[in-house]
Amino acid sequence: MWSPSARFSTLALVAIVAPATIVAVLGWVSIRQWEASSELLYREQARDMATMAAEKVEMMLRHAEDAVLDRLQGALDADTPPARAVDDLLAHAPLVGRLYLIGQRGELLYPRAWKDGDAAIFGPLVAEAAKGKFERSGKREVVAGNQVCLAMLVRRGGEPVVAAFIRDPDTLRREIFETTLGALESSIIIAVLDHAGRTVYSRAPIGDAQHVLSVRFRETLPDWRLAVYQASGAAPRQAVRRQVMLFTGAFGVLVAVIVAGIATTWRLMRRETEMTRLKSDFVANVSHDLKTPLSVIRMFGETLEMGRVTDEGKRREYYRVITRESERLSRLIDNVLDFSRIEGGRQTYEMTPTAVEPLIRGTLEAFTYPLAQQGFKVDVDVASDLPDVVMDADAVGQALANLIDNAIKYSGDERALAVDARVVEGRLVIAVIDRGLGIATTEHAKIFEKFYRVGRSDTQGRRGSGVGLALVRHIVEAHRGDVTVESAPGEGSRFTLRLPLARERDG
Ligand code: ADP
Repeated sequence: MWSPSARFSTLALVAIVAPATIVAVLGWVSIRQWEASSELLYREQARDMATMAAEKVEMMLRHAEDAVLDRLQGALDADTPPARAVDDLLAHAPLVGRLYLIGQRGELLYPRAWKDGDAAIFGPLVAEAAKGKFERSGKREVVAGNQVCLAMLVRRGGEPVVAAFIRDPDTLRREIFETTLGALESSIIIAVLDHAGRTVYSRAPIGDAQHVLSVRFRETLPDWRLAVYQASGAAPRQAVRRQVMLFTGAFGVLVAVIVAGIATTWRLMRRETEMTRLKSDFVANVSHDLKTPLSVIRMFGETLEMGRVTDEGKRREYYRVITRESERLSRLIDNVLDFSRIEGGRQTYEMTPTAVEPLIRGTLEAFTYPLAQQGFKVDVDVASDLPDVVMDADAVGQALANLIDNAIKYSGDERALAVDARVVEGRLVIAVIDRGLGIATTEHAKIFEKFYRVGRSDTQGRRGSGVGLALVRHIVEAHRGDVTVESAPGEGSRFTLRLPLARERDG
């Protein structure tokens, strides 16, 4: 058979831990999936936007260059000497950095001479282009790297002219990239990278932003790329990470609540099991406690009835024993009945002003015989100036009787009992002191719990039901007082009752 705790652990494991693990795994998997799909979606959107932006840039650039070329064509067609017209035109076309017009046979038509080094750059390109590649006028080719543009124009008279120019990088950045990309409404950072991967333009400082993707420009900016960056902390991965943290946190709280719940249930269950055990002990103890005085009464009663005791002195003693045992019996029954009334919430107390000394002496009197028989040294010290105290005399007497009974029951070799009563700080303080077995500090709180007995009754060998001190505590608390114990094993015990002198107003 499994113990209740083993059963509980298995149940907790199966019913709580297993589902919690499944929830955790499912949550984790779905978060991973969500992370993957949101990343994918994000990249798709970024790509769409980048492609669109690149197209827009190219359109703008083509548009601007077409306008220049149209005007150039116009200048070639005009009557004015082309050189002056071209000078004029260039003054208003900042995008064109340096322009050369080259004739069919490679002769330089404009300007008069090559600027430093340009012959080396443009010469071979034009020669290449001139090899019959420009059949149609207006056809343009952008040469990668140096961003050299070649365009085919036709001079009056049908003679083809190659217009070769280099784009001015500042104007390109300012008038094309900035106007096109700077106006885009998006949180992402867009940058233009040249053929060598250098950043030519970026909408915001890239810093430690994360590269998401790049798209290539087409023919107007071959080998250049438009790159998309994500500011750190704003990437979807980060959002997902935050979500994961949130999920983990929430799950942690859930687990903590579950664990706390299990622990509480476990404790409750243990208490309940313990209580059941104590109750069954209680029944056994009470039955035993009842039986002993009964059998004594019966035995002495029968002996007397048979008339075998002729000695008057002996007879008197037998009567005394019968009386004493019946007193004990009724004390015991009172205890159990009161206890059950208290448990059922039916106990009531009748408060009347009571003289303390007679109450103490009266209670002790009931124990005269056992005290004398066991050789107890009894010391009663009641302050002479005690006022009457409002209390339920029967109940307080019963509490005292329980304490005295315990002092006798749990006595050791040194048999001494002291009862001390005085007023301290406006309260009646009654102490019952013995030199008996004493109680370990760890037990001090527990002994006032119902059914609790230190050690098992069979090992300790002293009879008891475990409700005596619970009753004492209940009675003093009903009087708005308290009971405490000072005790150590082998050193005896001091139980102290403190009761208010007058009944305080309720509430
Ligand atoms: P019981 O019927 O067992 O006496 P009580 O509630 O009166 O029940 O006491 C609870 C436990 O406290 C006892 O089992 C005993 O171990 C311990 N106890 C009570 N009074 C004394 C005392 N005067 N000296 C030593 N132990 C005591």
